[in-house]
Amino acid sequence: MNQPLPADVASFAATGAIGKPSPESYLPAGIKMCGRCVLDSRVSGIKFDQEGICNHCKIHDRLDRIFPTGDEGEAFLQKMARKIRASGKGKKYDCIVGLSGGRDTSYCLYVTKRLGLRPLALHFDNGWDSAISKNNIRRMCSKLDVDLECVIADWEESRELTNSTFYASVPYIDLTDDVGIITSLYRTAAREGIHWIIHSHSFRTEGINPLLWNYVDARYVRHLVDKFCRMPLKHFQNADLGRVLYWMLVKRIKVFTITNYYKDSGAEIDQFLKSEFGWEDTGGWHFDNEIFGLQCAYARRKFGIDWRSVELAALVREGDLTRDEAAAKLREVPLIEDDRFVRYALKKQGISPDEFERLLKEPPKYFTDYPSYYPLIRLMKWPIWLASRLQYLPPHTYEKYFDV
Ligand SMILES: [Zn+2]
Repeated sequence: MNQPLPADVASFAATGAIGKPSPESYLPAGIKMCGRCVLDSRVSGIKFDQEGICNHCKIHDRLDRIFPTGDEGEAFLQKMARKIRASGKGKKYDCIVGLSGGRDTSYCLYVTKRLGLRPLALHFDNGWDSAISKNNIRRMCSKLDVDLECVIADWEESRELTNSTFYASVPYIDLTDDVGIITSLYRTAAREGIHWIIHSHSFRTEGINPLLWNYVDARYVRHLVDKFCRMPLKHFQNADLGRVLYWMLVKRIKVFTITNYYKDSGAEIDQFLKSEFGWEDTGGWHFDNEIFGLQCAYARRKFGIDWRSVELAALVREGDLTRDEAAAKLREVPLIEDDRFVRYALKKQGISPDEFERLLKEPPKYFTDYPSYYPLIRLMKWPIWLASRLQYLPPHTYEKYFDV
């Protein structure tokens, strides 16, 4: 007589399913995953269509149609390069490139030179650069013969602004870097008479983070400074709306997101940077920025945010990872969240482990709990769409504010 099968084996056999469990089978009950990428219903603002495909996949496809790569992308890059060169005639530089020392910005600087442009590289240092990324910046600029301008934030102020985000109980703590790089790029471009900022965010390989995760605007930042900073910030420069409009409309500084027109993922790019420039891999995901481990651990423990999910989902859409591979990565806590990185960053921030545990227990808040320009931005839907498409703003700005 045949022995009865155990219940779970019997139910598996009854479905006729063969092979590995699906990524969905690992999810907690009630959580739904996009049928194409790996984003699931825990991601704020996510929507699914009738086929179970998420809005992030739809945005990817829309932007993919607008911004071609391959021969068409290269033709557009050449056309833009002619325009940018003409705008810089008689000047020392015709564009400015933000350089972090990571892979994306390093490759972006190379492409800028390949197109015959004369860039000024700008690095904003908020005190969290790894030694490898600093070396990469020097190597890239030296081998490509590009001048480098470093803007170094006042460390005490930068630390205080970061801590203000903990006290505000919001998920994104690294806003000193975001504000610093924006103001430094525009201010330096205005001083040098440069009309083009070369931007290297790629919707294809980085995706677009939900607005609630990392919203930043000048009014919101000003409020955090006024309410939560315990010392006056004398050197910090906010990206005030009036100044940004001045840089855009009076100084006529535009943004060209160059990475939208070429494929910037895959091991061959790392290999190329290593062999041509002596560039070094920082050793792990976002290791170029040493506060990111604390950012990720804090967001995961307090808000249930996995900071890798948007990027891994993007790589699945691009075919650089399979859905199974990306889902398997998401089931593991990344190395950057190792306790050693987190404790190092907390010590540098002057926050004790006990204080950190207390901050984790404070009720979670979002930018929507504080004053911001967001209500005004909602009213400017179509001007922002136009500015995104006319290169006054990065092209995914519209999608970021209205679609995710
Ligand atoms: Zn999706």
